[in-house]
Amino acid sequence: MNDIPSHANEMRQNLVTGQWVIYALSRRKRPREIVETRHAPEEQPAYDVSCPFCPGNEEMLPRVILEIKGPDLPWQARIAANKYPVLTPGGDLKRTKRGIYTAMDGYGHHEVIIENPLHNRHFPTMTSQEAEVVIECYHRRYTELMEMEMSIGSSGSDRG
Ligand SMILES: [Zn+2]
Repeated sequence: MNDIPSHANEMRQNLVTGQWVIYALSRRKRPREIVETRHAPEEQPAYDVSCPFCPGNEEMLPRVILEIKGPDLPWQARIAANKYPVLTPGGDLKRTKRGIYTAMDGYGHHEVIIENPLHNRHFPTMTSQEAEVVIECYHRRYTELMEMEMSIGSSGSDRG
């Protein structure tokens, strides 16, 4: 279980459908107790001392990438690095044969969007203003990633 192979996160092409599928052995390292202790939103507290996504628990997060500030709160929504990413920006797009599969590195970005600082606030119960902030957070990060990928693509094309 601790011996995760170097190709732990890769994409493989489905031989039947031709679609690419993410194959992520490294996700096995995630803590399982989070799933077992999940409660309905109305049973959850507004703050959970053991939750890495609650304000004040940032030492449990790998890194905060983007934050939308709020008038009354230190932040309204944020994006953090994923402690167990399926896709990472460090690989390359070269395709290889692995047994019967065509495979490539698990290249990409896999981040966590923390939609609200309140532990028990979930999208279906948000006000329209809170939901708007979440959508703004998605949009900002998507735009940043697209600009980053376009800049990588254009510097790559200068070489060739
Ligand atoms: Zn929380």
